[in-house]
Order: sequence, then structure tokens, then C-alpha cells
Amino acid sequence: MKIDHEKLRALVRRLLGEAGSAESEAEIVADHLVEANLAGHDSHGVGMLPAYFRNLKAGTLRPNQAPEIVSETANFAVWDGRGGYGQVIAGAAMEWAIGAAKRHGVAVHALRNTHHIGRVGTYGEMAAKAGLVSVQFVNGNSGRPLVAPFRGREGRLSTNPICIAVPGTATTAPVILDFATSRIALGKVRVAHNEGKRVVEGALIDEAGRPTTDPGVIYGHGPGGAVGAVLPFGEHKGYGLALVAELLAGAICGAGTIQPKNPRDRGILNAALSVVLDPERLAARAFIEAEIDALIAWAKSAPAIDPALPVLVPGEPERIARAERMARGITIDETTWREIVAAAATIGIAVEAA
Ligand code: NAD
Repeated sequence: MKIDHEKLRALVRRLLGEAGSAESEAEIVADHLVEANLAGHDSHGVGMLPAYFRNLKAGTLRPNQAPEIVSETANFAVWDGRGGYGQVIAGAAMEWAIGAAKRHGVAVHALRNTHHIGRVGTYGEMAAKAGLVSVQFVNGNSGRPLVAPFRGREGRLSTNPICIAVPGTATTAPVILDFATSRIALGKVRVAHNEGKRVVEGALIDEAGRPTTDPGVIYGHGPGGAVGAVLPFGEHKGYGLALVAELLAGAICGAGTIQPKNPRDRGILNAALSVVLDPERLAARAFIEAEIDALIAWAKSAPAIDPALPVLVPGEPERIARAERMARGITIDETTWREIVAAAATIGIAVEAA
């Protein structure tokens, strides 16, 4: 089905409110999820709601949390998200880091124990909009580790995303590089599974370590419910990035990594190390902007191998998807919709009627 983004926002706001969130929280989370759908990342859009509702019920997602300030100086902070909605707490963390970086040139923020922060690019976009650079490393230290290390045939890590944002200029849009360190994000495996589709080659192995494109291998279809694994992107390089994201967010932020002695039954938990810096402390804004304009134009000037697929820059596919989906609506597959309707029913809302 296709649904207008405003209608979807209103519905999701209502569902989250009914599930216990204050109005402002419901609005931030609903906007984040719908904006992820608009950006083309259905994996981090409204299809997450059933998982959120399950975690609310299990008590691993707690509405209306303010972060515990573990420590804070002028430009270093450690916050514990207390299992609250990541979209709210990571947004507040980025606002804090933007303010501190503006005052002091650089800010370092460590966020622990926050429920799913969603599409990390959302926070990079905030920094870029403020004229700042941001670098973020995120881990997921709860749940079943489903990403295999390079050469391994069993999952040991999560999809640990990394986001780097560089502000734009008057004529060039910001560069928002925001990716899971797995070949594809886990949510994309879920979406493909829901849609009865295969995933790209080179992304999955089955429980015996054989390459497959069947997303079912992640959902316990193997003998005795055995699961396969998602591969890191770029072989040893993506694996290396996944590992350092785990170390930076899990060990250095004090959150705990996905090593087996740490608890794994805490819903969808993220930790994040964010470094935000003011580029003007390093070079003149006019110089930086002239170089940004020139470099992006240079990269995009490469003739396309396939004229139908021009050279893009990170952040551009999301802007293209957004323009298209704002105009034509967001497509939600049948299984995802059915799951949302069922999740809504658990809190007494009949979605079809709504
Ligand atoms: P992806 O592979 O679709 O895109 C990754 C990046 O590549 C984006 O910056 C995009 O702009 C850029 N890109 C895509 N096509 C391009 C092209 N042709 N030319 C230049 N740049 C291009 O993303 P993904 O790895 O599937 O991740 C999806 C989302 O999932 C991200 O927003 C990520 O933050 C999120 N995520 C979150 C968690 C979490 O625990 N919170 C975990 C994993 C992923």
C-alpha cells in the first residue's frame, strides 16, 4: 500500500502516544521513523514499530526517559540513555555536542544504554546543518549477534553503523555518509524477508557458511532453528570497521561490547561515540567551502558507466528518495503493514479504522 507521509506521521504519533509516550516524544520518534522511510531506509522506518512495542511490553524500552548524566564537562559528556527511545536521547546528545563544539571547537559525546537510535544519518544531518563535522560510531550490544567476522561462519557482531557528516555550502548539499558495516543492514534482510524477496549476492551465508541470497537463513529456518549470518561489507575492511565501532561505542563509551559475558536480553540497545567539530578552527570557511564545491563537482563529473546510473555523493540517494516519496507517498509492504496492525491491536487501536 502507499500512504501519504503526513497521514503516516499522525498514525504513528497516535500509536506511540497510546503506548505511553508523552506528546513530544511521540512526535520526535514518529518523525524519525517516517523520515527514515522518506529517505528510502524502510529498514529503519515505521516497520520497527512492532519490535518497539514488543520491547515496551518486555520493559527493555522505557518511554519518557531523560538520560542520566554520568559525567559532563564543557565539551566531554557521558550519558546513560536508561533504555529510553534512542531517537529522543541521541537527538538531545547531538544538540548538546553541537552547542559544545560551537563554543569549544570540538565536543566528544559518549552515549550508553539507549534503545535503538534508528537512522544514524539523522544526527549527522543535524551537525551538518549547524555547519559542523560529525563522526559517529555505533554498536548494538544486545540481541543475537548476526554479523560474522571476516572468514568466520557464525555471527559475532551487530551491524554497527558509522556516520560521517560534512556540511554543505550555498551550492553543494552536505555529505552524509551513513552505513551499516554489514553488507546490508539487518532491517533490509527483514524487509526482504517480509516481501518474499531475495537479497543481493555476497550479503548472507547459511548456517553451514555457504553463500545464499535467502533472507530466511537469518530467521531460524535452518536445522534446529540454526541461523546463518550477515557478512561484513568489503571483507576484512568492513569487518575492521565493525570491530572498531564495537570497541569505540561499546568499550570506550563504557556501555559494554557484545562479548558473551555481557547480557544480551535487553531489547535493541545502542551505544554511540560522537565527535563533533567546528571546521573553522582548522581552516577558513571560505577555503573549505570552495574545496567542497570543487571536489564534489569533480567527483560527479566522472562519466557514468551506465548513463542511467549517474555518479552520486553520500546523502544524495536519500534526498532523491525523499523528494519522490514526499510527492508519491511511502510504500509499505503487506507483511510490514499486517505486523503494524497487529502491534497496534495489542494496545487497543484498530489501525484500519484509524
Ligand atoms: P546504504 O547501503 O543504503 O547507504 C549507505 C550510505 O551510502 C549512505 O550514506 C548513502 O547516501 C550512500 N550511498 C548509497 N548509494 C550511493 C551511491 N550510488 N553513491 C554514493 N553514495 C551512496 O545504507 P545501509 O548500510 O543499508 O544502512 C541503512 C541505515 O541503517 C543507515 O541509516 C544506518 O544508520 C542504519 N543503521 C542503524 C543501526 C542501529 O543500530 N541504529 C544499525 C545498522 C544500520
